[in-house]
Amino acid sequence: MLHLPAMTKHEMPNETGDKSRGSNAPQPVRSLREWLDHLAARDRLAVIKPNANLRFELAAYAKRLDGVRATVFPQPGGHPMPVVSGLVSDRAWIAEAMAVEPGEVLARFQDAALHPIACEETKSAPVQEVVHRQVDLVKQLPLPTHNEHDGGPYISAGLMIVRNPKTGKQNVSIHRCQLAGPNRLGVLLLPRHTHAFFEMAEESGKPLDAAIVVGVDPLTLLASQAIAPIDFDELEIAGALQGRALPVVKCLTNEVRVPAEAEIVIEGRFLPGVREMEGPFGEFPQYYSDPAKRHVMEVTAVTHRKDAIFHTIVGGGLEHQLLGAIPKEATLINSLRRNFSNVIDVHLSPGGVMRFHLFVKIKKRQEGEAKNVMMGAFAASFDLKQVIVVDDDVDIHNPSEVEWAVATRFQADRDLLIVPDSQNSKLDPTTRDGVGAKMGIDATKPLASPEMTFKRIRVPGEETIDVADTLKRSGTNWRDALKS
Ligand code: MN
Repeated sequence: MLHLPAMTKHEMPNETGDKSRGSNAPQPVRSLREWLDHLAARDRLAVIKPNANLRFELAAYAKRLDGVRATVFPQPGGHPMPVVSGLVSDRAWIAEAMAVEPGEVLARFQDAALHPIACEETKSAPVQEVVHRQVDLVKQLPLPTHNEHDGGPYISAGLMIVRNPKTGKQNVSIHRCQLAGPNRLGVLLLPRHTHAFFEMAEESGKPLDAAIVVGVDPLTLLASQAIAPIDFDELEIAGALQGRALPVVKCLTNEVRVPAEAEIVIEGRFLPGVREMEGPFGEFPQYYSDPAKRHVMEVTAVTHRKDAIFHTIVGGGLEHQLLGAIPKEATLINSLRRNFSNVIDVHLSPGGVMRFHLFVKIKKRQEGEAKNVMMGAFAASFDLKQVIVVDDDVDIHNPSEVEWAVATRFQADRDLLIVPDSQNSKLDPTTRDGVGAKMGIDATKPLASPEMTFKRIRVPGEETIDVADTLKRSGTNWRDALKS
């Protein structure tokens, strides 16, 4: 059922030495530890001094190294459990985790979403090696505080797993969880699947069982962000990305099934009829989300590996942005291609917080088509505020290239589309409670134009010339060089 992509040429050694994985071909990553080994072998994992302060100092290191190194913190704030951050701060790293080329990331994700693999229940689970039934979150977990005005310590990289009270189907998503007491968390549930399941439980006056899973591989994190229908278990996408049935285990205090090889599980239940203050919290647009009365989870048990590792995502960093962006891009390209077979690629740009600004590359066939493509994109994702459509000779992963296309192929009176008063992200502070304008920019060149008008200049041989020797001689005294 699963269609694996063509194996890639680059070597990705299997650091775990797991012989059961067979061939030498690159394999998708299956655990946090395997991924840390992979990063360390490529000099992308910085080990920070022991005892970094959980309040701000840990996040300061992680943020300064964002995009360059993942970080590991031994004994953070004197806590015996280490913390990691920045597991994926580059698109190429995600490609490596999937064992595909960077250009294949979206196709691979979409393929996994279309061909999920059911999970396999197991009895022995490393994640249940240590069991705390007397819960004291601060004592048992190293909970960091990231931004200056955050309302307190947060769990920011936890997969929230809940079950549909009617069908029993599981849902996986990431929600910020604020420490609110020794066994109490304040949780932001936006009106999506977890929220829908909670409402079903609350209507009948019942709590909703839940589990927060911390410390999983990048592919499971990515799968949790899939834009899938309700009653579609995102762990089955994680399995498809990993190329196996994901082993899961039943929680000790409820019926939720969690990845057996994760580092930490926080078991509990959302309380019906209870709302308490949560926030502020530094979110992906680089602003604080306001405090308000939000849902409350009571923790019933904490389980973890003997030498568990806690994962934290610093809000607004590249890890935060990329984990959301890849599944959104995969969904957008898929949705656009249903109507526009000539859409080549899409990219949620870093400057647009990988949510609000979309670049679309098309092979233009028809005048005016770029505006239809924009409307298709806006219809597919309400978060989108700006769409720039460019031709197939523009590198949409390079913001300067896109700006060049806008500078030389766009005229505001002809090529601009504005849609006033439409639904946008409530996290964009310029909207009026999520109502704002959308802007589309057609930066494609006209189909009918004199041949040389839009001919991009090019130096023959520039791409292929070998400059390695030249760069080696760069220390040479240039006066001597000219004499010989
Ligand atoms: Mn879902």
